Amino acid sequence: MSGLDSGLEGAASGFSDLSDSEFLEIEEPEDSEKLSCSIGHPPGSGPDDVAKENLLEVIKRKRSQVPLEMFHLRYLSVTDISAQVWCEQQIVYRREHPNLLLPENTALLDTGKSIHLARELEDHDLVMVHTTSQEDSWAIKVLNLLIMLRILQAGHRVREFPVFGVLEDIFVVGIIDQLGYTAKGELELNELKTRNQASMPSASQKKRDYFQVFLYKYIFDAMMRGCLTSDSFIHHLCLRPEQPLGPHVQEQAQRAGFTVGCFHDLLELLFLNLLLLEIPPIDRLQIEYIHQETGTPLGTEVLAYDQNDVRAKVQYFLAYWKGQRDPEGVDVEDAWKCRYCAYSNVCVWRMGESRKPSRKVERVQVKE
Ligand code: SF4
Repeated sequence: MSGLDSGLEGAASGFSDLSDSEFLEIEEPEDSEKLSCSIGHPPGSGPDDVAKENLLEVIKRKRSQVPLEMFHLRYLSVTDISAQVWCEQQIVYRREHPNLLLPENTALLDTGKSIHLARELEDHDLVMVHTTSQEDSWAIKVLNLLIMLRILQAGHRVREFPVFGVLEDIFVVGIIDQLGYTAKGELELNELKTRNQASMPSASQKKRDYFQVFLYKYIFDAMMRGCLTSDSFIHHLCLRPEQPLGPHVQEQAQRAGFTVGCFHDLLELLFLNLLLLEIPPIDRLQIEYIHQETGTPLGTEVLAYDQNDVRAKVQYFLAYWKGQRDPEGVDVEDAWKCRYCAYSNVCVWRMGESRKPSRKVERVQVKE
């Protein structure tokens, strides 16, 4: 079997964003250490203060816009949303100042991605496909989904499985690490997390990982129930349905057994397959943690899923992207996270939190 990779965006599995599977890793300190961290104390004055003031002014001006429009986003990834569990304010800064990601963190993410790629290559080869338009690029993603749906239907395992959905009127994409069947015939999602420390993650990191996996199931199950439409792609992604697909994309589609001329043809095929194939909802969710350097298994977590709880959190998190509320930083008990944050010197939440009434009761908590 071959997985297709777009030559236009040039990223594994056809997505240009960070791997869906890797987040930065920070160890949660002991309770006594947490007490030494605080929110609400502005950094001391120094020569950079004027520059920081200017930066804060720019940030305030930008915040008056709807975030999706401000960042020119047509869609969000599952990673974008699950990162809000850690600190929503931080992902806003990451969008505003992408160059502040520390080099050592970039190296960690790259190592994690390499491990995922190695696993993916155990199951199939990657074929580079030259693309000439946005429609070509999205066609590759849809083609990968079509190919993998048939493999799943035949009872086999797939890796790097793309999912698409519309949540709260926002198009969302994700890549599930692995789907396969258990000995009992249940459809099982297995998420691989690599760690540079040879230990299981902290409770805060687990919360974020859990929500990522819950979102995959939420989107996958909705997609299989027929909630996605052709219009979802066309309208949200601003794609041209009648755009002829490039020769290389058409050739790959033909090799996979599909005859298509334009993007709309491919979408019709996708929705026909989603309607006719009998693939069950995901029954079992698990996360496998391994040590990056040695590949040693660190532990596996099996998760309990609550659809109503996930729906409520999706509504809450996406309200920020739709401009219905301001971004929020960490709660007081999670102030230790600020110590490891590249944006602590410019963070308006950190500087102003102590002067606000507690907002903890308004926030959505992610259950473990
Ligand atoms: Fe979030 Fe703290 Fe970083 Fe601000 S300094 S973005 S509140 S982690």
